[in-house]
Amino acid sequence: MLKTHTCGELRTSHAGQTVTLAGWVNRRRDQGGLIFIDLRDRWGITQVVVDEESTPEAHQIASQVRNEYVLQVTGVVRIRPEGTTNPDLATGEIDVTANQITIFNASKPPRIYINQDGNEREAERMRYRYLDLRRPRMQHNLITRHKTVKMIRDYLDERGFVEIETPILFKTTPEGARDFLVPSRLQPGKFYALPQSPQQLKQLLMVAGYEKYFQIARCFRDEDLRGERQPEFTQLDMEMSFVEREDVMQLCEGLALALCDTIVPEKQLLARPFPRLTYQEAMEKYGSDKPDLRYDLQAIDITELAGASGFSVFNQNAKAGKKIKVIRAPGLYRDQDNPEALLSGERLKKLMRSLEDMVKAEAGAKGLAWMALPLNAEDEVKGPIGKFFTVDQKLELFEKTQAQPGDILLFISDTDEVIYATVDKLRRTCADILNLADPNVLAFAWVIDFPLFLWNEDENRWDPSQHMFTAPMPEDRHLLDSDPGKVRGTQYDMICNGYEVAGGSIRIHERDLQEKIFPLIGQTMEHAKEQFGHMLEAFEYGAPPHGGIAWGIDRLAMLFAGAPNIREVIAFPKTQTGSDLMAHAPSLPEPGQLEELYIMSTYKGEDEE
Ligand code: ASP
Repeated sequence: MLKTHTCGELRTSHAGQTVTLAGWVNRRRDQGGLIFIDLRDRWGITQVVVDEESTPEAHQIASQVRNEYVLQVTGVVRIRPEGTTNPDLATGEIDVTANQITIFNASKPPRIYINQDGNEREAERMRYRYLDLRRPRMQHNLITRHKTVKMIRDYLDERGFVEIETPILFKTTPEGARDFLVPSRLQPGKFYALPQSPQQLKQLLMVAGYEKYFQIARCFRDEDLRGERQPEFTQLDMEMSFVEREDVMQLCEGLALALCDTIVPEKQLLARPFPRLTYQEAMEKYGSDKPDLRYDLQAIDITELAGASGFSVFNQNAKAGKKIKVIRAPGLYRDQDNPEALLSGERLKKLMRSLEDMVKAEAGAKGLAWMALPLNAEDEVKGPIGKFFTVDQKLELFEKTQAQPGDILLFISDTDEVIYATVDKLRRTCADILNLADPNVLAFAWVIDFPLFLWNEDENRWDPSQHMFTAPMPEDRHLLDSDPGKVRGTQYDMICNGYEVAGGSIRIHERDLQEKIFPLIGQTMEHAKEQFGHMLEAFEYGAPPHGGIAWGIDRLAMLFAGAPNIREVIAFPKTQTGSDLMAHAPSLPEPGQLEELYIMSTYKGEDEE
């Protein structure tokens, strides 16, 4: 090695030893006769001192170096003189007096600062990703991810799981997204599809008798990259034979708890064992099947109470069978910078207008009714609908919602779909404003009892709520013909802090049941056989009962690293338009490449608008 120690390793016990360090110049301070260099590698920072008098040659070299130069330094470990120790550095009690310095490589002034988290645009970070990744924070993120995956592998290996790779060049594996296609040169006109997940392959491995499979699998989905999505992402993919829903959930919960205890012992778990919600409960209370449970902000049904008020919208909606719900936003009426005081009338109106605009634009709500509770109980509630409620109705409302002075009550009434979307948006936004989501808490939970199908209004057919291989709950199977909307699936989702961390189900393993699903989801038998004939056939050769799950590794690593989005835990992520800004992918093919693949491009380049 070109170094004897790392830059995070030396302590007072090394005093007097001659050592060689190698790394990057984090900072250089020239104090004339003395030059101080903070030398950085993956493990930390060590201060190097270069003295002009005793080592003129080294000093001469040190005077040339700049930030991010790559150096090798040989010198003697010295206990720092009193008053010059640095408690912020693990190596802060020593420094290294350099005898010899070699410049391995120079660096241009870095385009982004490595030694501080600048606020440069994300595009700049992507363009110079190797510099961005040199930052200690990013190194911490990727190392946390590595530790997570390593522990997953060990945990599952100890429990009899086998890691098996499955092909990237395959056939459509529907998870509800568009496929990425890869043209075949050897078979003109034909295409492979990149797997959206190894779903079929892992089921086929169960037919093949492996019983416990896992894989850290790359998945590809050609979707519009809203928010958290990446065109390729990583799953912990698992499948087990001879299991019921409970078995898969128990195994995963054990793994999640072990990961939390080992990787992020400093974080608090909201509850162990993980709470369980039915899909219905989650939607009614939180408007989402992946609610952030770090905060309460539940929607409470007040259809009867509010329907009897004098507010005509509520009367009509209640009569028409629409629900009326309320969320109590604790202290939202208070000035968040000065919680003793309430918002001025002007600021209250502005806040409520911005919430209303948001739910109109993003949740399809027609409006947002509200009541703001004054600090003095004698004062009138603020808000346009207060006057439509009698004193008794208001008291009942406050009782039901446990409302306190300084709270705002937010009312929503519409179709279920609009209520859900509105509740979800309001919860997230209020939690943001009120700072309710504690970054040190991990609120894991399970959501179960999903409907097997969701009605697709546009296509006039059922869509699988998970995917077409999910088995119905055995006790609901008889409803498949008569009332498919009522059938619950065996799906289970593990959620955490507002994200779906894992999702899976017990699978269909009988051909006749699988064949029943296709027409319901709008697939002709002919098309289904063409796409999935191999699955149907495999089910006829001793397919065991089986089930599995897939975890989103990017999301899990993001939560463990405390990162704001998954791009912070992916070494080379893509932008919203699917570009790699560093290597400039995707790019135009070389002349001749398309012909070789029998592809004719209709794209005319920049001229075409
Ligand atoms: N293949 C599914 C997915 O990617 C997960 C599973 O059912 O195991 O969401």
